[in-house]
Amino acid sequence: MQTQDYQTLDRQHHLHPFTDFKSLGEEGSRIITHADGVYIYDSQGSRILDGMAGLWCVNLGYGRQELVDAATEQMQQLPYYNNFFKTTHPPAVKLAAKLSELAPEHINHVFFTGSGSEANDTVLRMIRRYWAIKGKPEKQWVISRENGYHGSTVAGMSLGGMAPMHDQGGPCVPGITHICQPYWFGEGRDMSQESFGKQCAQALEEQILALGEDKVAAFIAEPVQGAGGAIIPPDSYWPAVKEVLAKYDILLIADEVICGFGRLGEWFGSTHYGLKPDLMPIAKGLSSGYLPIGAVLVGDRVADTLIEDGGEFFHGFTYSGHPVCAAVALKNLELLESERVVEKVRDELGPYLAKRWQELAEHPLVGEARSLGLIGALEIVADKSTGERFDKSLSAGNLCRDLCFESGLVMRSVGDTMVISPPLTITCDEIDELVSKARLALDKTA
Ligand code: PLP
Repeated sequence: MQTQDYQTLDRQHHLHPFTDFKSLGEEGSRIITHADGVYIYDSQGSRILDGMAGLWCVNLGYGRQELVDAATEQMQQLPYYNNFFKTTHPPAVKLAAKLSELAPEHINHVFFTGSGSEANDTVLRMIRRYWAIKGKPEKQWVISRENGYHGSTVAGMSLGGMAPMHDQGGPCVPGITHICQPYWFGEGRDMSQESFGKQCAQALEEQILALGEDKVAAFIAEPVQGAGGAIIPPDSYWPAVKEVLAKYDILLIADEVICGFGRLGEWFGSTHYGLKPDLMPIAKGLSSGYLPIGAVLVGDRVADTLIEDGGEFFHGFTYSGHPVCAAVALKNLELLESERVVEKVRDELGPYLAKRWQELAEHPLVGEARSLGLIGALEIVADKSTGERFDKSLSAGNLCRDLCFESGLVMRSVGDTMVISPPLTITCDEIDELVSKARLALDKTA
């Protein structure tokens, strides 16, 4: 089939996620046909540097034969069996053990899901179950953050703080409330980063007191907000949040779906910030996106209670711990480990990106350039001195994103915030290419 045939069928039959259906227009979709390393290729033969690792997930890069082999072997051996009741299979057991080894010391159990959204649905059910077993069923409230992203299922979007999703999704799951996000450039520039970080943590305490400390089950947050715009919190934020949670005995859920598996230069974002979460939903980089798999890493406090006193937990998915997905995830972790990918992000690639990325801060359109490990953002502004944005109707971010694509680079726009999250296997030369293509797109946007 030719490109146009695909585009026609696509328009006729395919409802894309998070897409204005009419926007496909005459031009149609770009058909991505294959990929290798950090590059994707379209049906017209264009080679494009994938600055987003797919959707923040292809941590190991494209074209890894070892992952293909792991999937093939497992498909031949046992393509499917479930983990319900008293059965399981080697890939699920080995992956649970490996994840427990990699996770912080107090985490030794894993509940498998098919995606990050399912992991967050699981989290919600698990914490409410935990407090019920503890004899405190009134501890129901979950505090989350505006503009946080925790998935697209009803529970995921309710936990998330994306207003447009709430507006379209019908009533959200009750018992979830949202406080401010630690987005200094967007919401706190009238004070120092340090004061703003503390103020956001104080908002958490105020919300706990307003709801009643004995009514709050948990606080959920991404260590660095990804889909909201690669929002790296001020250094003062997490230490202050930790203190508040300890003071009121509230569970911490660190959503590691993006930050996990090396993105910030540690196996988990929580490690970077010295957090001790009770639960960590994971997905994406767990299999480098080669097959869909997610999980909740469950800390001892919750796991012991569920195991000792919980009886049957009426929850699970047909594909919880799918053998082929688990085998691929296991191989992916082995490769991340043996190739020292996470350490390289921390010691070489993250610092190199930070240095090159900061050069873009001098561009007339950039109000702030920030990065941590291999996640980064540029704030596009109309006036550098005041940080004033362009008129919304101009969609400067979308324009810049499209210009990037034209010049062979995938960057994502979140409003007028341009985001990158490339494969962790990117080289310094490829980082140079990414930065120069981003600069070119900014020049054209101006
Ligand atoms: N949590 C976070 C932090 C995410 O970024 C995402 C997806 O982008 C999810 C959860 C949902 O994961 P999935 O799309 O696999 O359901």
